[in-house]
Amino acid sequence: MMQQAVENPDVISLAAGLVDSESLPVEPTRRAVETLLGDPRRGQAALQYGTTAGSERLRDALLEYLARLEGVAVNQLGITRGQLVLTSGSQQLLSILGEVLLDPGDICLVGGPSYFVFLGTLEGLGARAVSISSDHGGMRLDALEETLEALRKKGDLPRVKMVYVVSYFDNPCSVSLEESRRAKLVELVERYSTHQRIHIIEDAAYRELRYEGDELPSLWSLDPERQTVVLAQTFSKCFSPGLRVGFGVLPAELVDAVSDRKGNEDFGSPNFNQHLLSTVFEEGLFEPHVDLLREIYRTKRDCLVAAASESLGDVDGVEWAVPQGGLYLWMSLPTMVETGLTGELFRRSVHDEGVMFVPGDLCYGGPVESRPRHQMRLSFGVQPLDGLREGMARLARAIEAVL
Ligand code: PMP
Repeated sequence: MMQQAVENPDVISLAAGLVDSESLPVEPTRRAVETLLGDPRRGQAALQYGTTAGSERLRDALLEYLARLEGVAVNQLGITRGQLVLTSGSQQLLSILGEVLLDPGDICLVGGPSYFVFLGTLEGLGARAVSISSDHGGMRLDALEETLEALRKKGDLPRVKMVYVVSYFDNPCSVSLEESRRAKLVELVERYSTHQRIHIIEDAAYRELRYEGDELPSLWSLDPERQTVVLAQTFSKCFSPGLRVGFGVLPAELVDAVSDRKGNEDFGSPNFNQHLLSTVFEEGLFEPHVDLLREIYRTKRDCLVAAASESLGDVDGVEWAVPQGGLYLWMSLPTMVETGLTGELFRRSVHDEGVMFVPGDLCYGGPVESRPRHQMRLSFGVQPLDGLREGMARLARAIEAVL
């Protein structure tokens, strides 16, 4: 899909999950590079090999950052610096966790829908993704319990190794796990950890991109023993994906396994980028940038939602929820309209109208036959405002034609 979009510049891509190019932090990064390289000792340290777990300086800064997000003091986080590992984006952590925790045939419970790249990671490992239905409040706990109970009855509980939750403004729906479900989800998963610990992988990639509402406590903060939840965060969405800096907060029992696996891969993620990001924090360049991004994406969100209301607001069966954060609008069409890559709507959209979206069926795990086929993910991250308006107008024409 990315390739089609790149090869055909006339196609407006509402599919690509990239961030807004105009707002990438060129100036803050230039200042941080100058500061970093202006000090020869720090410059040398940054250009040298680092360690597998990553720069201590950045990890200390991130303990403070995490404490600010969670609204506690660093010493109340209940972890040591050793439990915080810096990775090449959060994708590397997700992949390493999969390798460390999953054998072929093992089960990972995922939201339905869920982040399709991670579904690919699971598939690559020969693991089974089992979808748990989600609603406006994220993963449904009754569905989760029902599935865990059914797996227990079948004797499959020993194969359940993880539950993957994108807890803030998820990909593809921009839905956050409701506050009242958070502690209960951790308790439920712990209750079913009878054969071995079932880990919760909390992917908080969009945590900072919040346009309305209050900051919610992470699932990680609601795991008092710090043994069940692995927290994955990234600076890709809230600063720059090109830096490839993400971090994980690990239960103590996973630190060695993750570190060994990561050491085999890379001896550590790019040290220079980690030093650069710690300079960004030290110089106070991070928070203002996040404030700016929130404004920019809020405006883009409003623009896409207004364009959708204008062109599709009156069409029966076309529905979406206004995202309170994140980068995506999840749209449902009447069930007879298939959004898949081989369907009429996709063909018309791309070839006749010149607009691209992510077909919703790609975002579900489990058997292909059981996946809903009438939904799509629209991104407001990449396109400028006029691209969002024009893209939505084109999409609406394609939808009306198919209807
Ligand atoms: N998790 C989610 C939900 C994402 O959407 C993405 C990026 N699209 C990632 C993880 C990985 O991002 P990165 O490796 O750049 O941190």
